[in-house]
Amino acid sequence: MHKDIATPLRTKEILHKYGFSFKKSLGQNFLVDTNILRKITEFADLTKETGVIEIGPGIGALTEHLARTSKKVVAFEIDQRLLPILEDTLSPYDNIQIIHQDILKANVQDVIEKEFSGIKDIMVVANLPYYVTTPILLKLLTEQLPLKGIVVMLQKEVADRVSANPGTKEYGSLSIAIQYYTKAETVMIVPKTVFNPQPNVDSAVIRLMKRDKPIVEVEDEAFFFQITRASFAQRRKTILNNLTSALPNGKENKDLILSSLEKANIDPSRRGETLSIQEFAALSDVLLRTLP
Ligand code: SAM
Repeated sequence: MHKDIATPLRTKEILHKYGFSFKKSLGQNFLVDTNILRKITEFADLTKETGVIEIGPGIGALTEHLARTSKKVVAFEIDQRLLPILEDTLSPYDNIQIIHQDILKANVQDVIEKEFSGIKDIMVVANLPYYVTTPILLKLLTEQLPLKGIVVMLQKEVADRVSANPGTKEYGSLSIAIQYYTKAETVMIVPKTVFNPQPNVDSAVIRLMKRDKPIVEVEDEAFFFQITRASFAQRRKTILNNLTSALPNGKENKDLILSSLEKANIDPSRRGETLSIQEFAALSDVLLRTLP
């Protein structure tokens, strides 16, 4: 086994050797604690049959742990300056492919077909760049990729929202979007001290395991998500007021929205945060049929 990249000393040596300076705008907070890396890898339940997609390998701290415990790792890195460093630090491994690309612009489906042919179990495992956690998660889930699950580190505040239940202040359209596709749980809270540089916020690791089919059936997925987002537009407003002001043509159709809420057995004076995913599904199906 090779010397770990993620010790504070080795990381310092690598950064010094290449004169690397962190870009805050790219969410560059590197992990310098091998125990945390081992735990993240364990939560992902990898085997020598698993293909792993990593987002943002940095200097390869997590990448090498993934390579040791899986069949193959494909890692997307946006920062060109890290490519020669990764080539050096990850040279002992022959099962890693680095792709220099913004994950939000990548055709992940194509990459999976090309790089993971014959591999059934595909996991995303990453210490995400915090400025884009939500768009990355939504992209991975809405593009219907053949993933088994996602284990990622992100801001604790976002982790709380992802796994929140109805009736809590963290519950919102992100909780619904993620729980629609996956069984979501927070598996570890992580202190700031394991990063270099240390982020301003607390972190957590979440595990999202894809459901065989979404938790509820809806007639139109895009419309369902539009309704959930509109319902939380202003948290203090009732669902009736939010839908009226946040849906296009909502104001003209206030009566139809009101009758749809009644038809779906939802009191119009409730707030969005009290509705279950099943209630949102029923409401979105009624509105789809009722609104012009
Ligand atoms: N995996 C490393 C670790 O744990 O030490 C680095 C994690 S650091 C939090 C986030 C990484 O994501 C950085 O390497 C950054 O350059 C990269 N990154 C930022 N935005 C990205 C994007 N849109 N697509 C791909 N990589 C990105």
